[in-house]
Amino acid sequence: MNGGIVILQSFLSNLGILLLMHLCINTAYHLTDEKKIRAAWLPVIHIFIVALTVISMFHFPFMSGGHRVDLRIIPIVLLGFFHGWKYVLPVAAIASLYRLGLGGPTAAQGVLFGILLPAAFSILANYLGTKRQIHWYLLGVIVLSWAASDLLSVKIRLFLPVSIAAAHLGALLMAFAVMYFFVEMGRRHLEMTRKLQFYAERDPLTGLYNMRKFEKKLQNHSRTGNRMFIAMIDIDRFKEINDKFGHQAGDAAIGNVGRLLLSHSGKDIIVARYGGDEFILYMATERILTVKQKLEEIRKDAKKQATLSIDGNPPFPLSLSIGVAELSEPSRLKEAIEEADKQLYLAKKLGRDRVC
Ligand code: GH3
Ligand code: MG
Repeated sequence: MNGGIVILQSFLSNLGILLLMHLCINTAYHLTDEKKIRAAWLPVIHIFIVALTVISMFHFPFMSGGHRVDLRIIPIVLLGFFHGWKYVLPVAAIASLYRLGLGGPTAAQGVLFGILLPAAFSILANYLGTKRQIHWYLLGVIVLSWAASDLLSVKIRLFLPVSIAAAHLGALLMAFAVMYFFVEMGRRHLEMTRKLQFYAERDPLTGLYNMRKFEKKLQNHSRTGNRMFIAMIDIDRFKEINDKFGHQAGDAAIGNVGRLLLSHSGKDIIVARYGGDEFILYMATERILTVKQKLEEIRKDAKKQATLSIDGNPPFPLSLSIGVAELSEPSRLKEAIEEADKQLYLAKKLGRDRVC
């Protein structure tokens, strides 16, 4: 009974710190997805939060019969396992230096067994890597870290009685169960949010932006050129591809053109799928000649891709017709599209496979 209370007390004494860490990290990841934090800062923030967590645990240990027990193994192992040595080594270094700075008779032991060994075990587990049964791997690392630290301490009669070592293990297992649950939920939630965001902004077949996102990108685009252009790009005789080789071949052709356009996009070029076999391209530059050169490049690249063959079908020709128009300002996109469509129609009438 008494042992159970000791386990519960030491578990609860560090749980607040662990949950706060989890909340902060989760929030940092969501804010980064929303572009409120720069992606380059995220690893630094993550490392900082975990280092601070481990350090806080030094200051709020659970005390029992003059022995200090904390759960620092948990954040270290989770970090090393999920993010590898690049994350856990800086945390281990910061926490070790800090712990040594605090001094005391158990400093070196605390650093070696409470920080360095768990970090090394977690890096090893990360290296061995597994997508399934993650919890068993993690549990193994935690028990191994505990055994290395507490069992050894008991054996060489160094500072730790058996009852405290056992309570420590109980508290570690409970904290692990709770943290694993929250970390896993957080990871799934983040993954789901990213997926939803992807499909809300993109066309699933090509991975290109959809028109809603395209318009948003235009509004926010800080351009280097003063003039802007819109091009409508349409696959020639696409119906024939569908009719001759089936809709899947048609989908593959659309996917290929999508990838091709994506490879040509950049700081001043934004592309999206307009619908069906039609794509839209925005380019900010000074001269229409530059736009036409770019579009000629795309047209020629598409022709080179004509060797697309699916399921043993003979290669079929793929060409693009493209119409260009100037965009006076982002809010007048509709007019520019209408004008570019007229030019596209002209390109089709003149025999296709050209830029007008
Ligand atoms: P043109 O050279 O004049 O452009 O001739 P076309 O055959 O390409 O004519 P059009 O652009 O009107 O044909 C578009 C066809 O694309 C009609 C529709 O059945 C087909 N289509 C639209 N969306 C998809 C899609 O997502 N996948 C497939 N496989 N076909 C699609
Ligand atoms: Mg077409």
